[in-house]
Amino acid sequence: MTRERYPTCARCPTRVCENRGGRAGDGPDISKAPAFCPMKLMPEELGCALAEYDDPGLKEFARLASVQEFQCYERLPDGLRTKLPRIEELIQFARKCGYQKLGLAHCGGLFREAVMLTEILESNGFEVVSVQCKTGAVPKERLGIRPEEKIGGPEAWETMCNPIAQAMVINHAGVDMAVMLGLCIGHDTLFIKYCAVPLTVLAVKDRVLGHNPLAALYLSDTYYHRQTGKID
Ligand code: SF4
Repeated sequence: MTRERYPTCARCPTRVCENRGGRAGDGPDISKAPAFCPMKLMPEELGCALAEYDDPGLKEFARLASVQEFQCYERLPDGLRTKLPRIEELIQFARKCGYQKLGLAHCGGLFREAVMLTEILESNGFEVVSVQCKTGAVPKERLGIRPEEKIGGPEAWETMCNPIAQAMVINHAGVDMAVMLGLCIGHDTLFIKYCAVPLTVLAVKDRVLGHNPLAALYLSDTYYHRQTGKID
């Protein structure tokens, strides 16, 4: 039985698409890309994607994103140096886009962080609409959650996370851009599905690693070795 071939950039031995060290105008030799490269497997999709940038609004948005990327580095005699934390990147990018009103969709567990972020954004001239995940005050029973599946125990009131409401409130408030802060896995998926304005993520939730899920990857050959096996 032949296995279906599908793109697997994460296993690429060449990464010729990056053309590192190449000079402007000299494109990479795509023939050196592996057989599972999307440029070889799905050239039509890549062509369609490129055509999308012909939309003037999209092209300008993508251009500003690349300018922002550029401004996150400085070229020094001893090499490239990074210089902006993501919060500053967010502020600079929102300004570039001419955005004035931002929608903050945050987790109740990151209320403190939402307060701090709101103050920073407001002191930088933005209006901030914020909606926490528990808005609507609907009990988890509405989703079919059983008593034994409640975090606080069977007798506790537990308000369900309501990412669809977060998205609808933010859409209705007429914000220029939404910012996600610490939504749970799955709840973030629903928020993304329903959010109708440009959306970016400041942070994702990791309850154990200070909202830095990559720490588990960085430790996966030492303290988090268990992750390389099957996870229950
Ligand atoms: S796009 Fe192609 S060359 Fe680039 S990383 Fe993916 S497989 Fe490798």
